[in-house]
Amino acid sequence: MEVAPGVLRIVLPMPFELKHVNVYLLRDGDGYTLVDTGLKTDESRQELDAAFDRLGVRIDQIRRILITHIHPDHFGLAGELRERSGAELVIHRLEVALMEPRYARAEDLVQDVAHWLAVNGVPEEEAEFLKTASMGARELVTLVEPDSLLEGSERLRLAAGELLAVWTPGHSPGHSCFYWRDRHLLFSGDHLLPKISPNIGLHPQSSADPLGDYLESLRRIGRLAIETVLPAHGEPFTDPAGRIDEISRHHGERKEALLRAAQGAPCSGWELADRLFHGAMERNVFQKRLALQETLAHCQSLAQEGRLSKLVERDSVRWVAA
Ligand SMILES: [Zn+2]
Repeated sequence: MEVAPGVLRIVLPMPFELKHVNVYLLRDGDGYTLVDTGLKTDESRQELDAAFDRLGVRIDQIRRILITHIHPDHFGLAGELRERSGAELVIHRLEVALMEPRYARAEDLVQDVAHWLAVNGVPEEEAEFLKTASMGARELVTLVEPDSLLEGSERLRLAAGELLAVWTPGHSPGHSCFYWRDRHLLFSGDHLLPKISPNIGLHPQSSADPLGDYLESLRRIGRLAIETVLPAHGEPFTDPAGRIDEISRHHGERKEALLRAAQGAPCSGWELADRLFHGAMERNVFQKRLALQETLAHCQSLAQEGRLSKLVERDSVRWVAA
């Protein structure tokens, strides 16, 4: 479906609670630039190929693949597509550092995660399940060496103008949005979504203050003149400023709730997550781990602001209102 002149949205299936991911195809002279790729599953590959057929796009017309971040729903098919098309694969350099440990040496990462879970108060029997919660992601991705690395602020030439790479760390350390200034369009990846707020988690592969980074990156996006946001999940939308306000407020409220929960005796991240996300903690291991990561991101941000004390010993981290 054409969502803006020369910009096609392709919706690909996912076997998760979140059922779809959008990838975008930009007409660029006689070729195309693709933003994100979908999961490496048979369903996703078939759907993407069918869309190319329908649109009359030959695979070798894809000259460039831009990746917003390395989560499997964005990066999964990148390796295959590059192989098939010969396209230039472009991604932020901070994402590259996450690839190997996450998708090729996952066993080592599981050890780091196990230690991190213990330090944050996760009981041993729970940790056994939680530490491997994302191992399945390896099946959904082909590891591939990118051709070009971004740092942010690069101007990428198109036949009809240029795209600005906007570094937006938070959801992932090297998350990038792509801004088509002349058309007032933003390809927002997972950074700015219409219905859900992306998971912002502190964990062994995150930056040191992901929530602080995220809120700062939201402000960075807020300074751009954008008419339409093209997100990776959900429908294209207008009024990014309104959505940025909502999400910022949501995190502000979360922080206040966390401060209230952290009155009294020092608590582990696990105990705080249980108080804050009771519903999610009753669900599956994946949700529990996300709840812990999200709680810790809020704790860390509050600690950076001097509103929460972070008490660290060799084998534990606990938090208490400052
Ligand atoms: Zn993501």
